[in-house]
Amino acid sequence: MKKLLHDLANLSGLRDRRELDFALVKMLVHSSQWRVSSTRLMRAVGPADDQRWLTLAHLDTLQPSPDQDQFWFDGSPLPKLSDFKNREAAIVTEAMVRFGGGPVTTIFPIDTQSSVCSLLEIESEHALSTDAESLIDSILRLYENLQGMLDYGEKDTLTELHNRKTFDRAFLRAAMEQQKQGDAEHPDRRIPHEGAGYWLAVLDIDHFKRVNDNFGHLIGDEVLLLLARQMRTNFRLHDQLYRFGGEEFVVLMRCVDHLDALSALERFRQKIEEYAFPQVGNITVSIGFAALKSDDTPSGAFDRADRAVYFAKAHGRNQVCSYSALVRSGDLIETIDGAQDVDFF
Ligand code: GH3
Ligand code: MG
Ligand code: MG
Repeated sequence: MKKLLHDLANLSGLRDRRELDFALVKMLVHSSQWRVSSTRLMRAVGPADDQRWLTLAHLDTLQPSPDQDQFWFDGSPLPKLSDFKNREAAIVTEAMVRFGGGPVTTIFPIDTQSSVCSLLEIESEHALSTDAESLIDSILRLYENLQGMLDYGEKDTLTELHNRKTFDRAFLRAAMEQQKQGDAEHPDRRIPHEGAGYWLAVLDIDHFKRVNDNFGHLIGDEVLLLLARQMRTNFRLHDQLYRFGGEEFVVLMRCVDHLDALSALERFRQKIEEYAFPQVGNITVSIGFAALKSDDTPSGAFDRADRAVYFAKAHGRNQVCSYSALVRSGDLIETIDGAQDVDFF
Protein backbone atom coordinates (compact mmCIF):
# COMPACT_ATOMS: atom_id res chain seq x y z
CA MET A 1 0.00 0.00 0.00
CA LYS A 2 2.90 2.33 0.76
CA LYS A 3 4.28 1.85 -2.75
CA LEU A 4 0.85 2.42 -4.26
CA LEU A 5 0.47 5.73 -2.43
CA HIS A 6 3.96 6.72 -3.48
CA ASP A 7 3.15 5.89 -7.13
CA LEU A 8 -0.10 7.87 -6.93
CA ALA A 9 1.70 10.89 -5.50
CA ASN A 10 4.18 10.61 -8.35
CA LEU A 11 1.42 10.31 -10.94
CA SER A 12 -0.38 13.40 -9.71
CA GLY A 13 2.78 15.48 -10.14
CA LEU A 14 3.19 14.72 -13.86
CA ARG A 15 2.28 17.37 -16.43
CA ASP A 16 3.31 15.61 -19.62
CA ARG A 17 0.69 13.32 -21.18
CA ARG A 18 3.16 10.70 -22.39
CA GLU A 19 4.88 10.56 -19.01
CA LEU A 20 1.50 10.27 -17.31
CA ASP A 21 0.39 7.40 -19.58
CA PHE A 22 3.68 5.54 -19.11
CA ALA A 23 3.60 6.02 -15.34
CA LEU A 24 0.06 4.64 -15.21
CA VAL A 25 0.88 1.37 -16.97
CA LYS A 26 4.12 0.96 -15.01
CA MET A 27 2.29 1.40 -11.76
CA LEU A 28 -0.35 -1.18 -12.72
CA VAL A 29 2.14 -3.80 -13.92
CA HIS A 30 4.56 -3.38 -11.00
CA SER A 31 2.06 -3.15 -8.15
CA SER A 32 2.14 -5.84 -5.50
CA GLN A 33 -1.62 -5.40 -4.90
CA TRP A 34 -2.47 -7.63 -7.87
CA ARG A 35 -0.71 -9.82 -10.42
CA VAL A 36 -0.94 -8.45 -13.91
CA SER A 37 0.96 -9.75 -16.93
CA SER A 38 0.31 -6.86 -19.27
CA THR A 39 -1.45 -3.49 -19.41
CA ARG A 40 -2.44 -1.49 -22.47
CA LEU A 41 -3.82 2.06 -22.49
CA MET A 42 -5.63 2.89 -25.74
CA ARG A 43 -7.57 5.62 -27.44
CA ALA A 44 -9.94 5.41 -30.41
CA VAL A 45 -8.67 7.59 -33.26
CA GLY A 46 -9.50 8.34 -36.88
CA PRO A 47 -12.62 9.24 -38.88
CA ALA A 48 -15.99 7.97 -37.63
CA ASP A 49 -16.26 5.36 -40.40
CA ASP A 50 -12.74 3.96 -39.88
CA GLN A 51 -11.85 4.19 -36.21
CA ARG A 52 -8.67 2.51 -34.98
CA TRP A 53 -7.07 1.67 -31.66
CA LEU A 54 -3.99 3.73 -30.91
CA THR A 55 -1.88 2.38 -28.05
CA LEU A 56 -0.77 5.27 -25.84
CA ALA A 57 1.19 3.07 -23.45
CA HIS A 58 1.76 -0.67 -23.17
CA LEU A 59 3.83 -2.69 -20.78
CA ASP A 60 4.15 -6.36 -20.01
CA THR A 61 6.15 -7.93 -17.21
CA LEU A 62 8.99 -8.99 -19.56
CA GLN A 63 9.51 -5.51 -20.97
CA PRO A 64 12.03 -3.13 -19.39
CA SER A 65 9.97 -0.02 -20.17
CA PRO A 66 6.62 0.92 -21.74
CA ASP A 67 6.14 1.40 -25.49
CA GLN A 68 3.51 3.09 -27.62
CA ASP A 69 2.33 3.05 -31.23
CA GLN A 70 4.65 4.99 -33.51
CA PHE A 71 3.38 5.96 -36.90
CA TRP A 72 3.18 9.17 -38.79
CA PHE A 73 1.47 9.07 -42.09
CA ASP A 74 -1.76 7.18 -41.74
CA GLY A 75 -3.59 5.08 -39.22
CA SER A 76 -4.22 2.06 -41.44
CA PRO A 77 -1.68 -0.25 -39.73
CA LEU A 78 -3.54 0.19 -36.44
CA PRO A 79 -6.13 -2.39 -35.38
CA LYS A 80 -9.71 -1.60 -36.32
CA LEU A 81 -12.13 -0.64 -33.56
CA SER A 82 -14.80 -2.92 -34.96
CA ASP A 83 -12.54 -6.00 -34.67
CA PHE A 84 -12.68 -5.89 -30.85
CA LYS A 85 -16.20 -6.59 -29.69
CA ASN A 86 -15.31 -6.69 -25.99
CA ARG A 87 -13.65 -3.27 -26.14
CA GLU A 88 -16.69 -1.93 -27.98
CA ALA A 89 -18.94 -3.39 -25.27
CA ALA A 90 -16.94 -1.62 -22.54
CA ILE A 91 -17.36 1.70 -24.33
CA VAL A 92 -21.05 1.30 -25.12
CA THR A 93 -22.02 0.10 -21.63
CA GLU A 94 -19.48 2.40 -19.91
CA ALA A 95 -18.77 -0.53 -17.62
CA MET A 96 -15.92 -2.94 -17.01
CA VAL A 97 -15.84 -6.04 -19.23
CA ARG A 98 -14.06 -9.25 -18.25
CA PHE A 99 -13.49 -12.25 -20.52
CA GLY A 100 -11.31 -15.35 -20.90
CA GLY A 101 -10.67 -18.11 -18.41
CA GLY A 102 -6.90 -17.74 -18.02
CA PRO A 103 -5.36 -15.56 -19.10
CA VAL A 104 -8.17 -13.20 -18.16
CA THR A 105 -8.64 -9.87 -19.90
CA THR A 106 -10.30 -7.03 -18.00
CA ILE A 107 -11.27 -3.87 -19.85
CA PHE A 108 -11.92 -0.61 -18.03
CA PRO A 109 -13.52 2.28 -19.94
CA ILE A 110 -11.91 5.66 -19.27
CA ASP A 111 -13.92 8.83 -19.42
CA THR A 112 -11.40 11.56 -20.20
CA GLN A 113 -13.52 13.65 -22.52
CA SER A 114 -16.97 13.30 -23.99
CA SER A 115 -15.57 13.18 -27.53
CA VAL A 116 -12.75 10.69 -26.88
CA CYS A 117 -12.98 6.96 -26.20
CA SER A 118 -10.18 5.54 -24.08
CA LEU A 119 -9.70 2.14 -22.50
CA LEU A 120 -7.38 0.30 -20.20
CA GLU A 121 -6.95 -3.40 -20.95
CA ILE A 122 -5.34 -5.61 -18.35
CA GLU A 123 -4.25 -9.19 -18.78
CA SER A 124 -3.73 -11.44 -15.80
CA GLU A 125 -3.37 -15.15 -15.29
CA HIS A 126 -6.35 -15.24 -12.93
CA ALA A 127 -9.32 -12.91 -12.60
CA LEU A 128 -8.60 -9.79 -10.54
CA SER A 129 -10.23 -9.71 -7.12
CA THR A 130 -13.19 -7.38 -6.59
CA ASP A 131 -10.97 -5.22 -4.36
CA ALA A 132 -8.29 -4.98 -7.04
CA GLU A 133 -10.90 -4.08 -9.65
CA SER A 134 -12.31 -1.35 -7.51
CA LEU A 135 -8.85 -0.01 -6.63
CA ILE A 136 -7.89 0.11 -10.33
CA ASP A 137 -11.19 1.83 -11.06
CA SER A 138 -10.32 4.52 -8.49
CA ILE A 139 -6.82 4.96 -9.95
CA LEU A 140 -8.41 5.47 -13.36
CA ARG A 141 -10.71 8.11 -11.92
CA LEU A 142 -7.65 9.95 -10.61
CA TYR A 143 -6.10 9.58 -14.08
CA GLU A 144 -9.28 11.05 -15.65
CA ASN A 145 -9.09 14.04 -13.30
CA LEU A 146 -5.43 14.61 -14.10
CA GLN A 147 -6.22 14.48 -17.81
CA GLY A 148 -9.04 16.96 -17.23
CA MET A 149 -6.61 19.33 -15.51
CA LEU A 150 -4.16 19.06 -18.38
CA ASP A 151 -7.00 19.73 -20.86
CA TYR A 152 -8.05 22.77 -18.86
CA GLY A 153 -4.59 24.30 -19.13
CA GLU A 154 -3.75 23.18 -22.64
CA LYS A 155 -6.93 23.34 -24.68
CA ASP A 156 -8.79 26.22 -26.18
CA THR A 157 -12.20 26.22 -24.52
CA LEU A 158 -14.22 27.01 -27.66
CA THR A 159 -12.68 24.58 -30.15
CA GLU A 160 -10.90 22.07 -27.86
CA LEU A 161 -7.82 22.37 -30.06
CA HIS A 162 -4.50 22.92 -28.29
CA ASN A 163 -3.95 26.49 -27.21
CA ARG A 164 -0.93 28.61 -27.93
CA LYS A 165 0.62 27.92 -24.53
CA THR A 166 1.37 24.31 -25.44
CA PHE A 167 2.86 25.11 -28.82
CA ASP A 168 6.41 25.93 -27.75
CA ARG A 169 6.95 22.62 -25.98
CA ALA A 170 5.55 20.58 -28.91
CA PHE A 171 7.61 22.67 -31.30
CA LEU A 172 10.84 22.14 -29.41
CA ARG A 173 10.21 18.40 -29.30
CA ALA A 174 9.66 18.41 -33.08
CA ALA A 175 12.71 20.63 -33.63
CA MET A 176 14.87 18.22 -31.65
CA GLU A 177 13.77 15.36 -33.90
CA GLN A 178 14.36 17.57 -36.91
CA GLN A 179 17.85 18.32 -35.72
CA LYS A 180 18.69 14.63 -35.90
CA GLN A 181 17.94 14.57 -39.61
CA GLY A 182 18.62 18.05 -40.99
CA ASP A 183 16.17 20.58 -42.40
CA ALA A 184 12.80 19.22 -43.53
CA GLU A 185 13.40 20.92 -46.84
CA HIS A 186 16.89 19.46 -47.22
CA PRO A 187 16.89 16.21 -45.24
CA ASP A 188 20.02 14.18 -44.82
CA ARG A 189 19.61 11.62 -47.59
CA ARG A 190 22.21 9.33 -46.05
CA ILE A 191 19.73 8.33 -43.37
CA PRO A 192 17.43 5.71 -44.92
CA HIS A 193 13.72 6.63 -45.23
CA GLU A 194 14.34 9.74 -43.19
CA GLY A 195 13.23 12.22 -45.83
CA ALA A 196 10.30 13.16 -43.64
CA GLY A 197 10.34 16.27 -41.56
CA TYR A 198 8.19 18.76 -39.69
CA TRP A 199 6.29 21.59 -41.29
CA LEU A 200 4.42 24.44 -39.74
CA ALA A 201 1.30 25.95 -41.28
CA VAL A 202 -0.64 29.05 -40.27
CA LEU A 203 -4.31 29.22 -41.32
CA ASP A 204 -6.32 32.40 -41.22
CA ILE A 205 -10.02 32.74 -42.10
CA ASP A 206 -10.62 35.20 -44.92
CA HIS A 207 -12.79 38.23 -44.15
CA PHE A 208 -13.89 36.81 -40.85
CA LYS A 209 -14.86 40.25 -39.62
CA ARG A 210 -17.66 40.19 -42.19
CA VAL A 211 -19.05 37.00 -40.64
CA ASN A 212 -19.26 38.72 -37.25
CA ASP A 213 -20.63 41.91 -38.78
CA ASN A 214 -23.29 40.16 -40.87
CA PHE A 215 -24.33 37.32 -38.58
CA GLY A 216 -23.20 38.25 -35.08
CA HIS A 217 -20.47 37.04 -32.77
CA LEU A 218 -22.28 33.84 -31.75
CA ILE A 219 -22.52 32.60 -35.30
CA GLY A 220 -18.89 33.70 -35.72
CA ASP A 221 -17.97 31.45 -32.81
CA GLU A 222 -19.87 28.58 -34.39
CA VAL A 223 -17.86 29.01 -37.59
CA LEU A 224 -14.64 28.75 -35.54
CA LEU A 225 -15.95 25.61 -33.86
CA LEU A 226 -16.95 24.00 -37.16
CA LEU A 227 -13.65 24.93 -38.77
CA ALA A 228 -11.79 23.27 -35.90
CA ARG A 229 -13.95 20.17 -36.39
CA GLN A 230 -13.07 20.15 -40.09
CA MET A 231 -9.40 20.40 -39.15
CA ARG A 232 -9.71 17.40 -36.86
CA THR A 233 -11.37 15.26 -39.50
CA ASN A 234 -9.25 16.34 -42.45
CA PHE A 235 -5.73 16.45 -41.06
CA ARG A 236 -3.91 13.28 -40.13
CA LEU A 237 -3.84 11.64 -36.74
CA HIS A 238 -0.43 12.90 -35.80
CA ASP A 239 -0.82 16.43 -37.07
CA GLN A 240 -0.92 18.73 -34.07
CA LEU A 241 -3.67 21.32 -34.28
CA TYR A 242 -3.74 24.65 -32.47
CA ARG A 243 -5.95 27.68 -32.19
CA PHE A 244 -3.57 30.55 -31.69
CA GLY A 245 -6.34 33.01 -30.89
CA GLY A 246 -9.06 34.78 -32.85
CA GLU A 247 -9.50 33.17 -36.25
CA GLU A 248 -5.93 32.04 -36.59
CA PHE A 249 -4.99 28.36 -36.48
CA VAL A 250 -1.68 26.50 -36.61
CA VAL A 251 -0.84 22.97 -37.75
CA LEU A 252 2.45 21.29 -36.86
CA MET A 253 2.74 18.30 -39.14
CA ARG A 254 5.16 15.64 -40.18
CA CYS A 255 5.28 15.17 -43.94
CA VAL A 256 7.38 13.18 -46.38
CA ASP A 257 8.41 16.27 -48.35
CA HIS A 258 7.36 19.71 -49.54
CA LEU A 259 4.78 18.32 -51.97
CA ASP A 260 3.23 16.16 -49.25
CA ALA A 261 2.82 19.20 -46.98
CA LEU A 262 1.45 21.32 -49.82
CA SER A 263 -1.06 18.63 -50.87
CA ALA A 264 -2.37 18.13 -47.32
CA LEU A 265 -2.92 21.87 -46.91
CA GLU A 266 -4.37 22.34 -50.38
CA ARG A 267 -6.81 19.48 -49.72
CA PHE A 268 -7.93 21.21 -46.52
CA ARG A 269 -8.26 24.60 -48.25
CA GLN A 270 -10.54 23.00 -50.84
CA LYS A 271 -12.58 21.20 -48.19
CA ILE A 272 -13.31 24.50 -46.48
CA GLU A 273 -14.12 26.24 -49.75
CA GLU A 274 -16.71 23.55 -50.47
CA TYR A 275 -18.13 23.24 -46.96
CA ALA A 276 -21.48 24.94 -46.38
CA PHE A 277 -21.41 26.59 -42.94
CA PRO A 278 -24.94 26.77 -41.50
CA GLN A 279 -26.46 30.23 -42.10
CA VAL A 280 -23.14 31.74 -43.21
CA GLY A 281 -22.65 29.61 -46.32
CA ASN A 282 -19.15 29.49 -47.75
CA ILE A 283 -16.00 30.88 -46.22
CA THR A 284 -12.40 30.50 -47.31
CA VAL A 285 -9.02 30.29 -45.61
CA SER A 286 -5.56 31.54 -46.50
CA ILE A 287 -2.68 29.27 -45.53
CA GLY A 288 1.06 29.80 -45.31
CA PHE A 289 3.59 27.13 -44.46
CA ALA A 290 7.29 26.63 -43.85
CA ALA A 291 9.62 23.72 -43.18
CA LEU A 292 11.21 23.44 -39.77
CA LYS A 293 14.93 24.03 -39.87
CA SER A 294 17.39 22.11 -37.76
CA ASP A 295 18.22 25.13 -35.57
CA ASP A 296 14.70 26.56 -35.53
CA THR A 297 12.84 28.54 -32.89
CA PRO A 298 9.03 28.59 -32.45
CA SER A 299 8.86 32.29 -33.30
CA GLY A 300 11.23 31.95 -36.27
CA ALA A 301 9.20 29.16 -37.92
CA PHE A 302 5.90 30.87 -37.10
CA ASP A 303 7.18 34.06 -38.65
CA ARG A 304 8.10 32.39 -41.92
CA ALA A 305 4.69 30.68 -42.22
CA ASP A 306 2.96 33.92 -41.23
CA ARG A 307 4.75 35.88 -43.93
CA ALA A 308 3.50 33.33 -46.45
CA VAL A 309 -0.09 33.85 -45.13
CA TYR A 310 0.38 37.57 -45.44
CA PHE A 311 1.43 37.06 -49.04
CA ALA A 312 -1.65 34.87 -49.68
CA LYS A 313 -3.88 37.58 -48.19
CA ALA A 314 -2.34 40.26 -50.36
CA HIS A 315 -2.65 38.17 -53.51
CA GLY A 316 -6.29 37.14 -53.58
CA ARG A 317 -6.76 35.04 -50.39
CA ASN A 318 -8.18 31.46 -50.49
CA GLN A 319 -4.82 29.94 -51.36
CA VAL A 320 -1.90 28.01 -49.90
CA CYS A 321 1.49 29.71 -50.08
CA SER A 322 4.82 28.10 -49.35
CA TYR A 323 7.48 30.25 -47.74
CA SER A 324 10.32 28.45 -49.51
CA ALA A 325 8.59 28.63 -52.90
CA LEU A 326 8.04 32.37 -52.41
CA VAL A 327 11.70 32.80 -51.52
CA ARG A 328 12.75 30.79 -54.58
CA SER A 329 10.52 32.85 -56.89
CA GLY A 330 11.87 36.07 -55.40
CA ASP A 331 8.47 37.12 -54.00
CA LEU A 332 9.81 37.01 -50.46
CA ILE A 333 13.30 37.72 -49.30
CA GLU A 334 14.68 35.28 -46.78
CA THR A 335 15.32 36.92 -43.46
CA ILE A 336 17.74 35.83 -40.80
CA ASP A 337 15.83 34.50 -37.78
CA GLY A 338 13.99 37.27 -35.99
CA ALA A 339 14.59 39.94 -38.63
CA GLN A 340 11.34 40.96 -40.26
CA ASP A 341 12.29 44.08 -42.06
CA VAL A 342 12.09 42.90 -45.67
CA ASP A 343 8.75 42.10 -47.22
CA PHE A 344 7.30 40.86 -50.46
CA PHE A 345 7.07 42.82 -53.65
P1 GH3 B 1 -8.49 38.81 -43.53
O1 GH3 B 1 -9.06 38.10 -44.70
O2 GH3 B 1 -7.52 39.87 -43.94
O3 GH3 B 1 -7.91 37.89 -42.53
O4 GH3 B 1 -9.71 39.60 -42.87
P2 GH3 B 1 -10.37 39.32 -41.45
O5 GH3 B 1 -11.61 40.13 -41.39
O6 GH3 B 1 -10.53 37.87 -41.24
O7 GH3 B 1 -9.20 39.73 -40.51
P3 GH3 B 1 -9.01 40.58 -39.25
O8 GH3 B 1 -7.79 40.03 -38.58
O9 GH3 B 1 -9.00 42.03 -39.61
O10 GH3 B 1 -10.27 40.27 -38.35
C1 GH3 B 1 -10.40 39.16 -37.57
C2 GH3 B 1 -11.68 39.27 -36.83
O11 GH3 B 1 -11.90 38.11 -36.05
C3 GH3 B 1 -11.74 40.40 -35.83
C4 GH3 B 1 -12.54 39.88 -34.67
O12 GH3 B 1 -13.78 40.52 -34.62
C5 GH3 B 1 -12.79 38.42 -35.01
N1 GH3 B 1 -12.55 37.53 -33.89
C6 GH3 B 1 -11.39 37.34 -33.21
N2 GH3 B 1 -11.60 36.42 -32.24
C7 GH3 B 1 -12.88 36.01 -32.29
C8 GH3 B 1 -13.68 35.08 -31.56
O13 GH3 B 1 -13.21 34.41 -30.64
N3 GH3 B 1 -14.97 34.94 -31.93
C9 GH3 B 1 -15.52 35.65 -32.94
N4 GH3 B 1 -16.79 35.45 -33.25
N5 GH3 B 1 -14.79 36.55 -33.65
C10 GH3 B 1 -13.51 36.73 -33.34
MG1 MG C 1 -6.37 37.23 -38.53
MG1 MG D 1 -8.77 36.65 -41.08
